[in-house]
Formats: sequence, C-alpha cells, structure tokens
Amino acid sequence: MGNLYELATTLRLPQQPVRSPMFIDGAHYTGSTGEYVVRKSPGHGVAVTETLRASAQDLDAAVAAARRAFDDGRWSRISGEQRAAVLLKAAQRIRDDVETLAWLETLESGKPINQSRGEIMGAAGTWEYAAGLARVVHGDTHDTLGDDLFGLVVRQPVGVVGIVTPWNFPFFILSERLPFALAAGCTAVVKPAELTSSTTLRLAALLSEAGLPDGVVNVVTGLGSVVGQALAEHRDVDMVSFTGSTPVGRSVLTAAGGNMKKVGLELGGKNPQIVFADADLDDAADAIAFGICFNAGQCCVSGSRLVVHRSVEEELVARIKAVFEKVRVGDPLDAANHVGAIVEARQFDKICGYIEAGRRDGAQLVYGSTSTKEGERFFIQPTLFRNVKPDSALAQEEIFGPVLSVTPFDTTEQAIELANGAPYGLAASIWTRDVQQAFGSFRRVQAGRIWVNCTITGGPEMPIGGFKESGIGRETGRYGIEEYTELKSVHVQLGKRARWIA
Ligand code: NAP
Ligand code: MG
Repeated sequence: MGNLYELATTLRLPQQPVRSPMFIDGAHYTGSTGEYVVRKSPGHGVAVTETLRASAQDLDAAVAAARRAFDDGRWSRISGEQRAAVLLKAAQRIRDDVETLAWLETLESGKPINQSRGEIMGAAGTWEYAAGLARVVHGDTHDTLGDDLFGLVVRQPVGVVGIVTPWNFPFFILSERLPFALAAGCTAVVKPAELTSSTTLRLAALLSEAGLPDGVVNVVTGLGSVVGQALAEHRDVDMVSFTGSTPVGRSVLTAAGGNMKKVGLELGGKNPQIVFADADLDDAADAIAFGICFNAGQCCVSGSRLVVHRSVEEELVARIKAVFEKVRVGDPLDAANHVGAIVEARQFDKICGYIEAGRRDGAQLVYGSTSTKEGERFFIQPTLFRNVKPDSALAQEEIFGPVLSVTPFDTTEQAIELANGAPYGLAASIWTRDVQQAFGSFRRVQAGRIWVNCTITGGPEMPIGGFKESGIGRETGRYGIEEYTELKSVHVQLGKRARWIA
C-alpha cells in the first residue's frame, strides 16, 4: 500500500498494472478461471489495472458466503449501534485512503483527479450518514385496533442484496447503496462494472479492516452478461439493486422475477434544464455548462436538454458558449483540466454517432463536436446544438456524453410538455426568479430529483431515483435504508380471543 500511496501523491501512471483479486467471505479470491482482464486508462491509453473475469460458479461462492453471513445473524442480528460503529470506521478508512482510491478511480474511469477526490470524500460522508440511520430506522405501532388487539409494524433487513453498479461513478454510486443496505442489516454481493472494478475491490478490503464480519460484503468481478445476469436470477438472493442503462434494467427486472426478488433500479435520464425568461442567465449558463460537462456528460443526471424561453434563447446560448470556450479537456491526472476522457472506445463512438446524427437531422451546431481518438485515449469537446427537433434522437435518447441540445418554448404549458416529453424522469432543473413559477413547475415536472436555480447538487439526506423509465425505488435519505428492509405486521392479542364456536 505504501508504494501505491506514493504513486498516488505524485500522480504518475503505474509502472505495471495494479492487480486486484476478488473478495469473498473475508478473503482475497482468485476464482475458477484465473483469467485477468487488463484495463487501459482511457485518458492515457496504457494498461493500469487487472481484475478477474469470474464465472457463474464464483458468483455462487459469493452468494453462499453472503447467505451464511446473513442467516447466522453475525451482522443482521447485532445492534444498530454495533453496525454504526463499523460503518463509521469504514468512513474513516475511506477518508484516510482518498489519494489511492481517487488515483485508481481516475485511471480506470478517465475522470479528472480532483473530481475523483471529491467523490471519494463525498462517499465517506454517505457512509457516515448511513451509520446514523442504522440507529434511527424503526417500525411503527398501532394502538387503535381495539382493546384486545395491538399492532406492530417491524422493519427487518431484506436479506442478501445483489448490487450491480456502472462505470460512471463506481465508488460514489456504490456508496449510495451499500452502506444503507449494511445499516439495515443486509449482507451483499457486489458486481461492479468490469471497466472500473478496482476501487470496489479496495473498498471490500477496507471494510474488513474496519471490522465488518467475513462474508457480509463480497465482490465478484467480470461481465454483466455472465455474473450480473446470474446475480439477478439467483434464488438465494433476496433483492437486486441495479444502476445502469434502461435496457439492461429491464432485463434485470425479468431475471428477478424467478424468485420475486425485491428490485431497485436506477436507470437512464434525459434531463431538462428549463429556463424561464426571468432567470438569472449568468447563473444558469454556468450551471448548464457544468451540468453537461461534469463527468464528460456521462452522468445519469446530466442536464442534456436545454428547454428555454424563446426571448432569452439567443442570449443564453451565447453565454453557455462563452463558458464552453473556457472548458479544458484533457489528461485527467492534470488537475488543471475540467473534463477528462470518455470511458472507452464503444462509448466514444456512440457519442460521435449522435453528433453526426444531429448534423444530419438539420440541428444547428453552435459549438464543439471536436473529438480526439489518439491511440486508445478518447476526448470530446463540449458540444451544443440549436434547433433540435423535440422528437429527434438528439432530444429523446440518452447520449451519455457532453452534448447539449436546445429547444425553445413560448408558453409555460409548452415548457412543461417538452420537459415531460421523454420516456425518462430522473432529474430536472428549473431556472426562474419567480417563486410561483418555480413551485408551479416543479409540481408538474415528472422527475425524481428537481433542482431550482441549481443543478447536480445535494447530499445523502435527499432521496434519489426516477419516475417513468428511469427506475424503481429510491436510494439515500431515510428512504435509502427503508429500501433495504421488509415490513412485517405483527398482531398481538391482549386477553382472551373471542370464541369462534361458543
Ligand atoms: P449497462 O450495460 O447497463 O451496465 C451497468 C452494469 O450492469 C455493469 O456492471 C454491467 O456489467 C452490468 N450488466 C450488463 N449486462 C447485465 C445483465 N444482463 N444483467 C445484470 N447486469 C448486467 O451500462 P453501461 O454499459 O455501463 O453503460 C451503457 C449505457 O448505460 C450508457 O451509455 C448510459 O446510457 C447508461 N448508464 C446509466 C447510468 C446511470 O447511472 N443511470 C450509469 C451508467 C450507464 P459490465 O458492463 O461489466 O459487463
Ligand atoms: Mg455494458
């Protein structure tokens, strides 16, 4: 670790790829295939990490460990206070390890190093918040059922939870789910995206150091089509929490039907930035540029559709363009850059395909579209299209890249219709100085997360999740722990039961 730490603080590329085995039942595990997959940094084009490609048998071993750990009560039946103590220690371990975790995250994902540091520290705060919930979560009582009957509603951990995570925020998204599941008393099998598994594996080791009992958290790496699918289908898994694309989410929902698992899904978005004529355009321009450039637009809540009042469209677009001109895209290890690399060739080609389609469909390219593929390094400049037809691919589909489309409106009615006119409902931002307009709009916009005069901000106190095809369920906030519980209603007879047959 000392060696890695040194590398991290000097922000060099590793001399040889950092190899991480899986983590099952409290120990490193090399699996049945022994097949390591090399990950090249998308910001540098060189091999940086190696993780194992597991088989379905390896997944079985992990589920068996999680099942044993849940059923014998080593975690599920200890007190909330004891669970909170471990989660708080885990948070401290994460804070102490920020440099190495951030370095690995940047190498595998291509995101700027300062952003990685921010995400790791933010994630530590989420572990702390969840630790508090371990002592707060509780059920209910009903004293209104009559003199001879008393009702209790008990919240119990759902059991073994399978958690499948994407590559865009590997550590942060996991930290919006795993500590809440653990606070509830669940055990887990985590399947990170194959492109970005290293920080999840390192976290498993940190949790062990923090005192988490063996088998409570297990990490299996490899392909979603093999390990993720098997996890969603597994009959010994009680719940699956999936974060990723809507098509794969749909297949997880089907796979989970076998044993009627509880399902949590956080899927795609095509999130509107709604700007009314009275908005502070400077504030809006900066935030809108941030909202589409953050994580190179590879963010489920990226504000990718600008829906703007026609009277201020020209002015706002000019101001956004002025911000875009100052955005530095490049080496994610160089802290001066705002935007890093696109995660992989497939994603890069997909984004470039949408930019081409936008041009073909007659949208007006105002800024950007420059993409660079040097060897295996992938970068795309922020890109802005005007006159985007509301039913075109550019306006309807999740691009997952730094591409902003602009559609004007004339009336509030049209603004709401445009905002709600996509199959997704994950997030939306509303820009206005008029409190009536703000409240009137957020009540009608179909999205799980709304930002008024801000974007992509918040904390673990606030629940996240989607309307419509953006998912099922909520993560974080007090709802975040409740997601990982089952309700049991208990009826207690007081005194003698009235006879059925006298
Ligand atoms: P994805 O294909 O949905 O993958 C997300 C996770 O699911 C990964 O760990 C993946 O494994 C796994 N997976 C793949 N097939 C599976 C299956 N049949 N059963 C269970 N798990 C499976 O998303 P992606 O490839 O990372 O990105 C593709 C698109 O998803 C993006 O362009 C974007 O539109 C969307 N996306 C949304 C979010 C979000 O936060 N809402 C995040 C990331 C991506 P492997 O990839 O390792 O094989
Ligand atoms: Mg995939």
